[in-house]
Amino acid sequence: MKFDTIIIGGGLSGLASGIECARAGQRTAIISAGQSALHFWSGSFELLGQAGGETVITDPLSHIRQLDADHPYRVIGADRLRALLGRVPGLLADAGLKVSGSLDANHLRLTPLGFMKPAWLTLSDYIALDADAPMPWKKVALVNIYSYLDFYPRFLAAGLAKKGVKCHMGTVNIPQLDILRRSTTEMRATNMSRFLTNEAVDDLAFKINEVAAGCDAVIMPAILGIFSDEPVERLRRAVKCPVWFIPTTPASVPGVRCQLSLRDLFIRLGGEFLPGDTVKRGEITDGRLRRIFTVNLGDMPLEADNFVISTGSFFGHGLIADMEHIYEPALGLDLNVSKGRTAWYDKDFYAPQPYMTFGVVTDEDFHPSFHGRTVGNLYATGALLAGFNALKEGSGAGITLATALHAASRITGV
Ligand SMILES: Cc1cc2nc3c(=O)[nH]c(=O)nc-3n(C[C@H](O)[C@H](O)[C@H](O)COP(=O)(O)OP(=O)(O)OC[C@H]3O[C@@H](n4cnc5c(N)ncnc54)[C@H](O)[C@@H]3O)c2cc1C
Repeated sequence: MKFDTIIIGGGLSGLASGIECARAGQRTAIISAGQSALHFWSGSFELLGQAGGETVITDPLSHIRQLDADHPYRVIGADRLRALLGRVPGLLADAGLKVSGSLDANHLRLTPLGFMKPAWLTLSDYIALDADAPMPWKKVALVNIYSYLDFYPRFLAAGLAKKGVKCHMGTVNIPQLDILRRSTTEMRATNMSRFLTNEAVDDLAFKINEVAAGCDAVIMPAILGIFSDEPVERLRRAVKCPVWFIPTTPASVPGVRCQLSLRDLFIRLGGEFLPGDTVKRGEITDGRLRRIFTVNLGDMPLEADNFVISTGSFFGHGLIADMEHIYEPALGLDLNVSKGRTAWYDKDFYAPQPYMTFGVVTDEDFHPSFHGRTVGNLYATGALLAGFNALKEGSGAGITLATALHAASRITGV
């Protein structure tokens, strides 16, 4: 089978570049092995939350000069970064995802443990607070579902109390969720969201109104809206004060909504999505990736003019570590890992860990190298790349999206 562009990996990065290639009329395929970091997503895209030991709020892009010279943001450069990332809200809107936020300043999102973290874009049903403004509520209702264990209202109450917000904690129940309580493992956010549609949402709203009387807002676990925000909007219309959601332990409802919405947009644009398949090897000759082979297709190769590899870091299995080696398993690309195992980590558990910066090395256009030679028709994007620590910097989605859109624009010329 022959395509114009093949993307290896269907997480945020692969989907973003796939959408842009398909939109430009390219015959595009995405091959995706399985779960991505989006299944653990917070509902917020981070751009740059920490630089030079300080929390970044105002003009995050001006802080990229504090990053190392080989950091992907520095490689792209501030002007092009602004142009590429400026396209993201429109791309998300095309997929039906409503977000708030701007490149000019980070806002603060409320984490499940009650901390405030800088973020760039946040889904419209999740909390995004202006860093300079006073808290918008005096008293909030923290509403949980009876017997649901993955929501921690006491941590949230402690965090909000530090900001001068009083919290009232309550629990609600509706009979439509009783079926999930037959097994203790079924009370999961994504399972509940499948039952919380139509009249079940109205019944839930009725119960929430009883618990939240006298409060300025309701904060509850993200258990609605796995396929779209329609149940969320229905609940918001029926509850008498504003309702906000907190992401819970995986699988994350906002993350699954984001993944499915982007995948559906890619397919609507004519892209071919091959789920549940893994690229196991490729043939690279004379500085070009000629064809790839997958587990499901066996000896039948997939060919393309251009390829993008977006297989993630250790979490996505884009990188694999054994006792002696760290390697990129799909194509055997060159990595920035040279020293032995003891140099991979810091014994201080809380210190930034060196292995977090490991990844595929590329030229300034994000072409990776294979045995020291640049592969001219292959781009590497997202968490697979070397040279940054997304956890420490709070930069995961920004790097992922910027490099994905950079690769797509180089391929399509748009
Ligand atoms: C648990 C977790 C939570 C995070 N939460 C946030 C957050 O809330 N906000 C934020 O800004 N950043 C977050 N990040 C940072 C995150 O890395 C980026 O935001 C981004 O989602 C990474 O996307 P990616 O597509 O590069 O990689 P991934 O999301 O890891 O996706 C890689 C995909 O490639 C597939 N794959 C791997 N190998 C192959 C193969 N050989 N063949 C075919 N497919 C393959 C995987 O199955 C997976 O679907 C989080 C990271 C992690 C690990």
